[in-house]
Amino acid sequence: MGESAQPAAGATPAAPLLEVDGVTLQYKTKEHLITATYRVGFQVYAADRFVLLGPSGCGKSTLLKGVAGYLKPVEGQMRLKGREITEPGPDRVMVFQEFDQLLPWKTVKQNITFALMNGGRCTNRREADEIAVEYIRKVKLDRFEDTYPHMLSGGMKQRVAIARGMAMEPDILLMDEPFAALDALTRRQMQDELLALWEDTHFTVLFVTHSIEEACIVGSRILVLSPHPGQVKAELNAHHLEHHNVGDEDFAQLQRKIHDMLFADRILEEEASPHG
Ligand code: ADP
Ligand code: MG
Repeated sequence: MGESAQPAAGATPAAPLLEVDGVTLQYKTKEHLITATYRVGFQVYAADRFVLLGPSGCGKSTLLKGVAGYLKPVEGQMRLKGREITEPGPDRVMVFQEFDQLLPWKTVKQNITFALMNGGRCTNRREADEIAVEYIRKVKLDRFEDTYPHMLSGGMKQRVAIARGMAMEPDILLMDEPFAALDALTRRQMQDELLALWEDTHFTVLFVTHSIEEACIVGSRILVLSPHPGQVKAELNAHHLEHHNVGDEDFAQLQRKIHDMLFADRILEEEASPHG
């Protein structure tokens, strides 16, 4: 497969689902004007697992906030299904890193039914219950339907947040470092579970991470961003890694390539000194 970062082979989408077109996002504080991203552009197609990868502070979360409709670009445009994004909506659902994104006074099932009723997907309580149960099963929490969040582990809480997001059947699921606060083993497990869920329903996800390894595991396409202000460094295809193991040579190759891209300036400095 070639290196051009195109949508999945075989798919011939008429139009991208999400278009981010030359988007500059800024924060205005009393004293400062902070440019978080500068003229960033990318296109997400249906069923993409599109990853935004870059160092801390490069504007990944800011981009997600923009797509979610919480922040308006000062330059450029974002469009979902051809319509300009101007406000938040249930067609874009966010999953965060924090374990406290669930409502603590509601059970696992109630957290999901609440979102379904309030997000407008369901008007009927019984239908909401059925959908909630279906997604709780998908994330393997059947036995915990009536459990309150404080009784769950971090990984289980993130599963509920993912189930809730998926149950709402948004056009695009926005995930902001959802596994970053988990221990390494749970994190690996959750990455695999996310891929299994994707195999099941082929949802579209825009996934943010600062981990090169995670980007290669989770992503079908990877947008590499430069440090502050975030600009596009490269867009890479990771389709060829599907069904490969993390230790494979193909994996290592892509990781090295991204590593070199992100650390290009530092590598130049290091080459001035003798090594090995
Ligand atoms: P990332 O998610 O890639 O770590 P962020 O999108 O959180 O980066 O932040 C990008 C830049 O915008 C950083 O310089 C950060 O300090 C700044 N920033 C983020 N949120 C705010 C805010 N609410 N007010 C002012 N500056 C902010
Ligand atoms: Mg962030």
